[in-house]
Amino acid sequence: MVVDVAATYLAFDDTDSPDGMCTTYLAALVLERLREYDLLGLPRLVRLNPNIPWKTRGNAAICLPLGTGKGRRRPCGSLGGEDLEYYSEGKPAHPRDVLAKASRVLEDVARFDCEETNPGVVAVDKKLPPSLYWEAVRGIVPMKRVEAVLRASGAVWKKYKKGRGIIGASAAISWKPRDRTWEVIAYRSPGRFGTPRMIDPASVIAMDKATKATFNNYDYENDHMAICPGSPCPILFGIRGDSEKELLRARAMIEGEAADKWLLFLTNQATEDHIVRHRVSDLEPMMSARVRAKVAAPPETIVGGHVIVRVSDGDEVDAAFYEPSRTFRDVSRGLLPGDELVLYGSVRATPRSLNVEKMKVLSLVDDARKIKNPVCRACGKSMGSMGKGQGYRCKRCGAKAGPERALWKSVPRTLKPGWYEPPVASRRHLHKPIRRMSRVDIDKL
Ligand SMILES: [Zn+2]
Repeated sequence: MVVDVAATYLAFDDTDSPDGMCTTYLAALVLERLREYDLLGLPRLVRLNPNIPWKTRGNAAICLPLGTGKGRRRPCGSLGGEDLEYYSEGKPAHPRDVLAKASRVLEDVARFDCEETNPGVVAVDKKLPPSLYWEAVRGIVPMKRVEAVLRASGAVWKKYKKGRGIIGASAAISWKPRDRTWEVIAYRSPGRFGTPRMIDPASVIAMDKATKATFNNYDYENDHMAICPGSPCPILFGIRGDSEKELLRARAMIEGEAADKWLLFLTNQATEDHIVRHRVSDLEPMMSARVRAKVAAPPETIVGGHVIVRVSDGDEVDAAFYEPSRTFRDVSRGLLPGDELVLYGSVRATPRSLNVEKMKVLSLVDDARKIKNPVCRACGKSMGSMGKGQGYRCKRCGAKAGPERALWKSVPRTLKPGWYEPPVASRRHLHKPIRRMSRVDIDKL
């Protein structure tokens, strides 16, 4: 259970750029420079709607609960050679001071020159309404709505350029975890940014095998260290999991290049908070949905190797299995009309389709194939078909036979009922891995 204690929440978003800076690294830099404040709870890494077109990279916002700590302390990082801890309780700091100091750090280090970067910083000494988080993870929140909430809460904020970052920042403050995971992130020495990461894959595999609550560590299918990002960002690796304690142990098991800093985050990653159950007729662009439907037409492979499967729950939509999901896409090729599915995915505007990110096969139809036409009882010759479902006729004597007289055989299906998901490297931040799914999730279907 995650309990929110009184604190001043400092949050920021839209500070990264495709070519370097990342929002979680800013959290480390801000904490390193603002040592006069204590952390009253873990830093929070909050992922928002993955489908909005103007997101920077992972659409992540950061929220830091700050103040003067007391009570129990626990380790949560190392910055500039000093151990970092967070407190179980404390007294909030003054939001105006926090905003002024944090803004100075952001102005020093954020990529304000990147056209797509529109940073925003918020400080407030109370939580914002959770509804704001749900709107921001599932839909689109207008700036006006956010500013109204901030004014009503006595918050202070600063916008840079279009200032879109205050939307994500405010949503991060309003996140009241219903489900949660943790991520421990290690950062590289600045001199190594942009160079290949030196991590021993054997140590990642050993960590994966030795820990129970971590996930998405290693992609065995593609021999890829999923804990290391592919971009030239400051992150050395990030390990995700369901246990704060185990993540601290997992971090220490990774061998290779020495980390310059590390930080433990409480996150909404792998919670599937963005997914809402819908009927096909309700699907709209930029939403993420769970849909129960039947396969309506045989799968078609289109240019680029993508697979399109027409599905229906009374209304029809194309379910798309895209090339980057590799084996997952191969699974979709084994579907047949009539198969019953639950599909998880995001809605694409044009052409309107559901990009499938996880699937449960509920039931499979019998794959009955005709082996032989019936034999004429009078002549002993094979009879000819009169058309689909029309039965058979003997070419020699004209005798007729019903369609049921043909010889059919059930071909074993290549698929089995059950869960399917893309390999580790193709999963999105909010994707809930099948191994994280509980009985409750499965019963909800
Ligand atoms: Zn005949």
